[in-house]
Amino acid sequence: MKKIQLSLLPKLLSAIAAKKALYLPVDGKAGADYKRYEEGDTLSRACRTNRSAKDFFFPQVEDMAAFRVEGKKIEIIDTRKENEDFVIFGVRACDVRSFDILDRVFLADPVDTFYENRRQHATVVSLACDAPEETCFCRQFDILAEDPAGDVAAWIVGDEMYFKAKTEKGKKLLSSLDVLLADGDSAPVEKEKKHLEAIQHKLPISEFNKEHFKPEDLMEHFNDPAWAELSEACLGCGTCTFVCPTCQCFDIRDFKTNDGVLRYRCWDSCMYSDFTKMAAENPRHTQLERFRQRFMHKLVYYPANNDGIYGCVGCGRCLAKCPISMNIVKVVKKIGGKKA
Ligand code: SF4
Ligand code: SF4
Repeated sequence: MKKIQLSLLPKLLSAIAAKKALYLPVDGKAGADYKRYEEGDTLSRACRTNRSAKDFFFPQVEDMAAFRVEGKKIEIIDTRKENEDFVIFGVRACDVRSFDILDRVFLADPVDTFYENRRQHATVVSLACDAPEETCFCRQFDILAEDPAGDVAAWIVGDEMYFKAKTEKGKKLLSSLDVLLADGDSAPVEKEKKHLEAIQHKLPISEFNKEHFKPEDLMEHFNDPAWAELSEACLGCGTCTFVCPTCQCFDIRDFKTNDGVLRYRCWDSCMYSDFTKMAAENPRHTQLERFRQRFMHKLVYYPANNDGIYGCVGCGRCLAKCPISMNIVKVVKKIGGKKA
């Protein structure tokens, strides 16, 4: 365990930024968001950023290839940019878990090398939550906000910040900062963890029964009449999917340039009426079907294919941002409620 006085945190951030690109959440007028560190930036203490940390590995838009056309000749141009090493500092436990959920999609065969490249270059410094929002419910998915994963985990205790390396990458990062860090005793961190856990149990959405979303009950959930009522007011705006750290659907499109074609991918949303539209039309005709797909994927299909891990991390972003106040908690309560 290592530690530093909070008053020396700016020095530590500068030291990291001198070695690698550094990103951290910074407070702005509309709340906290990640940005590349510049001298003078201070770490936000907000428990949730507006945009999730998935942007670092799965950006909203990226070029994949270009094609230059000359008569009947087509040249394929590799537009890939190799990433520099970077550090994301202050990632909360829910967003760290989202990386694991995305890994199981993008690093499964066939590996998405764009995503893989960014994962390989990143070192994640997580930060325990000391002031969760009322809409947080990560504990429901066995995520410990008081003891986050990552390459290095960090805790703010009083006027000190503690660090514990959890991977080889994390050890390397901490040893490169050795001159600024002092040895720390784990006792204050263990005490703080208990305090933070107690806060988690007091959150309003601390109890709901998701255990009913079992893969073996797939058809029962799929045919539940409650989907009609739940989806009735859904606008199909896709906000819930864009703010979600675990939503990973994308579209690939070609854009005609002066001398060829640029192929790019961009986030898509299962809530949109043209999602997965094919020559023989869209397989989901109604908003009910699209709405059901989003929640069945997170609560039934994903865990069925990924060792029981749910595709939601309880970050609460969709609770905060949906214009009709619909969210995954309401779905779980309504669909699972019959058996509760
Ligand atoms: S479904 Fe909602 S609460 Fe769950 S991870 Fe996505 S945005 Fe967060
Ligand atoms: S944010 Fe709300 S209204 Fe918009 S698509 Fe999602 S559930 Fe529907």
